[in-house]
Amino acid sequence: MSNPPQTVSELINPVTFSWDVDMLETYFYTMDKEAILNIPLSSRVRDDFWAWHYERKGVFTVRSAYKLLSSTKQQRTDWLEHNEGHSRADADRRSWARLWGVAVLVKVRVFAWRLAKSSIPTGDVRKHRNMADSAKCAICHAAVDTWRHSLFDCRMARCVWAL
Ligand SMILES: [Zn+2]
Repeated sequence: MSNPPQTVSELINPVTFSWDVDMLETYFYTMDKEAILNIPLSSRVRDDFWAWHYERKGVFTVRSAYKLLSSTKQQRTDWLEHNEGHSRADADRRSWARLWGVAVLVKVRVFAWRLAKSSIPTGDVRKHRNMADSAKCAICHAAVDTWRHSLFDCRMARCVWAL
């Protein structure tokens, strides 16, 4: 196509507030398309803005830039001094390597990873990221939908576990 999209909003259907699957199929590899389709969208109209990846709200802060620089410097020092076998970061890397090595479907591994990173789009996460007006559970209307609620406490989850 001659006019590839320039902003993310061009990939979103403005009427249904969902990803424009035809656009994704046209401009992205299948793997990337699937990853994009897994990103939950807000149902509220918001203008595009440049977001700083290292803050949850996307707003740049000197504090987060300082933390980023410090941790990058520490990683480099650890690497240069061959300290990685003892660092917390390396212990984390080994844990993730073990998780990725488990013989289960990729989607199960990805789910476990997202669960550990608190990125499952439960009500509390969506509210925290300004993607929803409340943290309520859409299924049972409990006041706060957390990962624990979704997996264990929600009426629907209990039914699934009972089966
Ligand atoms: Zn619920």
